[in-house]
Amino acid sequence: MKYGIVSDIHANVEALEAVLRRLELARVDRIVCLGDIVGYHASPNECVRLVRDNCVHAIAGNHDRAAIGTLLPTEFNFVARRAIAWTAPRLEPDCDDFLRGLDIAATLDATACMVHASLAPEPNDRFHLTTPARIAANLAAVDELDAHICFFGHTHRAVVHARPGSTTASSVELDPARSYLINPGSVGQSRDGDPRAACAIYDAVEHRVELVRVEYDRDACLARAAAAGLLETPSLARRGLEAARSRWNDAAELARRAWELTCA
Ligand code: ZN
Repeated sequence: MKYGIVSDIHANVEALEAVLRRLELARVDRIVCLGDIVGYHASPNECVRLVRDNCVHAIAGNHDRAAIGTLLPTEFNFVARRAIAWTAPRLEPDCDDFLRGLDIAATLDATACMVHASLAPEPNDRFHLTTPARIAANLAAVDELDAHICFFGHTHRAVVHARPGSTTASSVELDPARSYLINPGSVGQSRDGDPRAACAIYDAVEHRVELVRVEYDRDACLARAAAAGLLETPSLARRGLEAARSRWNDAAELARRAWELTCA
């Protein structure tokens, strides 16, 4: 079985279409998505529908949950919050329903599981798996599973973590007796210095993973995001004002939810 693994699409339909074409050329049997389908760019509905129609499994990322209101974006920066505020009212009902149906973790097969951000201390869409301590704790969590691989996203950086070290090589042979944490990189918003779209191809029979990069029409994506007002750099004063307003809104929302719980 050969899997295409995609993550952190962030409403970039140009990148997602290019990655899906590449995975079709590679003749993968199944495609799975590790979350953050929406946020940052301007094609949320198109991306949700492509994931729904092409992926056998998808899980929710923190941006997906923020867009449907099941996660308060208290830890989001200004740009991420602005994208969620733009996305939420534009999500069409079928896309909103699809995002609401996603779990935050899933089993891929007997060899692998998938989370958006981190497996330990419990599966979550929050902790960036970047520090040596977190990587070690997550490898220890994989040791406890029947599966020996955990696919994760969230950092937008393609990498394979194992003991004794990590690699960003484009093709990695996997030892079924060892534990791995594998990030395919981000389809729509790479943060590892290579602006191309990223994905992974995992061959569960040959025990190999490829970290793949794909060219796409980045200018077209950025032009539409700019037209939607998603790329403007706000002044420091405006950022401060927006941050204060967001904190106030979050506090009011938390108080409202607490009140509802008390009265329930
Ligand atoms: Zn993301």
